[in-house]
Amino acid sequence: MDSGKKIIYLDNNATTPIDERVLEAMMPYLTTNYANANSTHKFGVEAYEAVKLARSKIADLIGSETSEVIFTSGSTEAINLAIKGVAENYFSKGKHIITVATEHPAILDTCKYLESRGYRVTYLSVRSDGLIDLSELRNALKEETILVSVMLANNETGVLQPIKEVAALSHSAGAIFMTDATQAIGKIPVNIDESGIDLMCISGHKLYAPKGIGALFIRQRNNRIKIPALLHGGGHERGIRSGTLNVPGIVALGVAGDLAKKEMISTSRKVADLRNLLEDKLLSIENTRINGNKEQRLFNTLNICFQGVDSDALIMGLSNPEDEFPMIAISNGSACTSSSIEPSHVLTAMGLNENDAFSSIRISLGKQNTRAEIEITIEAIKKRVKELKNMI
Ligand code: PLP
Repeated sequence: MDSGKKIIYLDNNATTPIDERVLEAMMPYLTTNYANANSTHKFGVEAYEAVKLARSKIADLIGSETSEVIFTSGSTEAINLAIKGVAENYFSKGKHIITVATEHPAILDTCKYLESRGYRVTYLSVRSDGLIDLSELRNALKEETILVSVMLANNETGVLQPIKEVAALSHSAGAIFMTDATQAIGKIPVNIDESGIDLMCISGHKLYAPKGIGALFIRQRNNRIKIPALLHGGGHERGIRSGTLNVPGIVALGVAGDLAKKEMISTSRKVADLRNLLEDKLLSIENTRINGNKEQRLFNTLNICFQGVDSDALIMGLSNPEDEFPMIAISNGSACTSSSIEPSHVLTAMGLNENDAFSSIRISLGKQNTRAEIEITIEAIKKRVKELKNMI
């Protein structure tokens, strides 16, 4: 990303930069105290204490007990641990799982794997605004349903699913409720008890901590969920996730969670204003529309379709170093699937035809973005879209 030219980074749902305060907090554990948190000497104890503090900060952010937080390498690992764990531990009750067609590949591919192992998975559809229909969920729930996994915020559109209602329905049918909260944690308040969440994944690199650290919340009170280990070894993380603890990453996640909690209101106001400005100005371009429910949506995300415009050409044009504008980083689809030539599975599930899906881009803002950056982006996108339309 060091091109010698100014960069306007608007792909924060793919990954965020590290907050300087987070970097500062983790540095000692990379340099001066690199001890193993399991070592009994003084330095090991210090590392252990730092992990303990970080765990309490994450528990505080989501309203859980510290014993309910297991550190992982990120959300993909947490999701695999949770879904495969439920499948392995609860199969005697049934082999049916419910999820949604617009989930992240980490969920969908884990479910597909379980299908190959004899589990039955129902993929709920979404309406044209990206929201699920609760009556479809109600009809899908069966006695043999062991798990319902519905994401809180969609990574491509920002659409927020009604997870409280989903949790209540799941519990009334005796199923465990899991939510992929990767995009929501740190942006909006999430309380596991208020929402009735049994399992939830968190990823550091979506909230200004580094890549390679995350967590899984596993409910232990009221409805004790048992998750067997995926990785076996030294018995770390209550035997659920063995492997020497990533102390710098864990410290970073704790500080990032703490900062997110303290600054949530001011950050969300600032970022929402910028996103709304961007959205209003871009909607003035002809044949343009927003993908996803405008109200039930993350404040930082804008998924927008410029009908007839090739989104790849737009994205490449905006990040061209030869351009008169700073280089602008935006995306289409999720980062994990954007190398594929398939249209976004999220947008097609919402009923967009292939052409419209290929004409849609995702702009995701972060707390570091400024009004000046957004004004330049508006100008640059308007110019590029006009050029691309004239080329048709
Ligand atoms: N779930 C969602 C909604 C995501 O956006 C992502 C990452 O893009 C993941 C899961 C995977 O997270 P990680 O990169 O921490 O494995």
